Amino acid sequence: MANVSANPDADQVQVQDIDLSDPQYTSDGIGNHPERSTGIRQPDTMYLHILSRMDILCNFVGSLPRGYSYFGRPHAPLGSSIRRYDLFIWGHPSGRCFRSHRQFCPHVVSIVQNKLDNCACYLCAINGPLSGAFAPPPPPSPPAAPTTV
Ligand SMILES: [Zn+2]
Repeated sequence: MANVSANPDADQVQVQDIDLSDPQYTSDGIGNHPERSTGIRQPDTMYLHILSRMDILCNFVGSLPRGYSYFGRPHAPLGSSIRRYDLFIWGHPSGRCFRSHRQFCPHVVSIVQNKLDNCACYLCAINGPLSGAFAPPPPPSPPAAPTTV
């Protein structure tokens, strides 16, 4: 688990580098990806830079958590010259995608803290914390009752 703490000697906050693809972080990513029309796969480093600017005192390096990928789709609203960039983070066991950094950030924190079973992010809250890859296997079916004739 990552340990982010303040350095009392230097009166500065130490920012720790975290590689979310490191095997020490248990990812629940399932590696699903969208149809071509929902975006183009983007480099992980592009998204990690954005994620590092969130309110987490970490510098994310390397790659996204295993099984997660970042897709983007540029668009310009009608009548506007400003181009926007829609983002999609795919890989959640629900099969749905995160549509913003604010949605994905709590899930990243749960991965780093190895607390996915209690994740309260947007998609886990919708689908339940034990959905998808973390769901226990269904109990075996009882044997069929013998039929007597
Ligand atoms: Zn979650």
